[in-house]
Amino acid sequence: MKQLQIDGRTTLCGLFGYPVEHSFSPAMHNAAFRALNLNWAYVPFRVEPGHLPRAVEAVRCLNLAGVNVTVPHKEAVLPYLDELTPAAKTIGAVNVILNNNGKLTGYNTDGRGFTRALREEAGFIPKAKKAVILGAGGAAKAVAVQLALEGAAEIVIINRTVNRGEGLAQTLAQMGAVSRVLTWEQRDQAADAAAAADLVVQATNVGMYPETNQCLPIPEEVFNSHQVVCDLIYNPVETKFLKLAGARGVTVVSGLGMLLYQGVLAFELWTKTAAPVEVMKRALNNQLGGRKG
Ligand code: NAP
Repeated sequence: MKQLQIDGRTTLCGLFGYPVEHSFSPAMHNAAFRALNLNWAYVPFRVEPGHLPRAVEAVRCLNLAGVNVTVPHKEAVLPYLDELTPAAKTIGAVNVILNNNGKLTGYNTDGRGFTRALREEAGFIPKAKKAVILGAGGAAKAVAVQLALEGAAEIVIINRTVNRGEGLAQTLAQMGAVSRVLTWEQRDQAADAAAAADLVVQATNVGMYPETNQCLPIPEEVFNSHQVVCDLIYNPVETKFLKLAGARGVTVVSGLGMLLYQGVLAFELWTKTAAPVEVMKRALNNQLGGRKG
């Protein structure tokens, strides 16, 4: 493999998060730069919350091409940027900053990464389809807003905390999308909604390492072979939820695709070059293979 070389012409980009040690993005982007022989490098920056405004200013001062933004900065970063894309504004969170000669634009590529993964891995197009999203946190919001932008017919949100679900439904209503909210107490209605859906998205932390034996209380009988079922969790790649759904003959999509394609979209925004998707996918798989959890 070609070595990463830093010299006076190297273009830098990176990640702002706290912590950042767990991130797969440096390996994914640096592998892509090497594969395309680009004199670029991707560096993780551990940015304490109180330092965020100065870190954003440093993107301009140090002439970084851009950065990814992750927990806990995705929402807090908004006021420090010069402009937001409509999706980032609606979601209220940014995961990519692009620096254009000191003008910083905030993007959210999580939702588009998700629908690109659905298209590439399952041939699924959201337009006029019914979706059920389990969860109403940050990832669920990015997914729901993107499904609405791409013309989904109905989006049902099932969430433990009703207020959070209603907040998301309100955002969707403002976009003119049809949506409704259920909680896990409404088991029969939740099961009916899942059974009638073309797409079911698991967007909670339930089943994530190390609690890999956990699963949301959705009866597996609701799944049928015409559906696509996605779990946003990528550690493990195959969650208990995906195993149960997969056993019913549905097409399953893991969270790895969303992680990959949000990175592909960021790479293309920064470099204006088509991303080497297979190289990035291999780098992600290597990272996962080397991880204990
Ligand atoms: P978040 O903002 O903290 O939201 C967490 C969601 O999970 C909320 O809806 C929460 O419900 C629900 N939840 C948590 N514990 C629960 C439980 N025991 N029972 C029922 N619901 C529960 O987190 P997030 O950023 O949206 O992340 C959610 C998942 O998406 C994580 O597994 C994360 O790894 C994954 N993710 C994947 C990608 C990717 O690229 N594949 C990107 C981002 C996130 P309440 O509202 O009731 O608390």
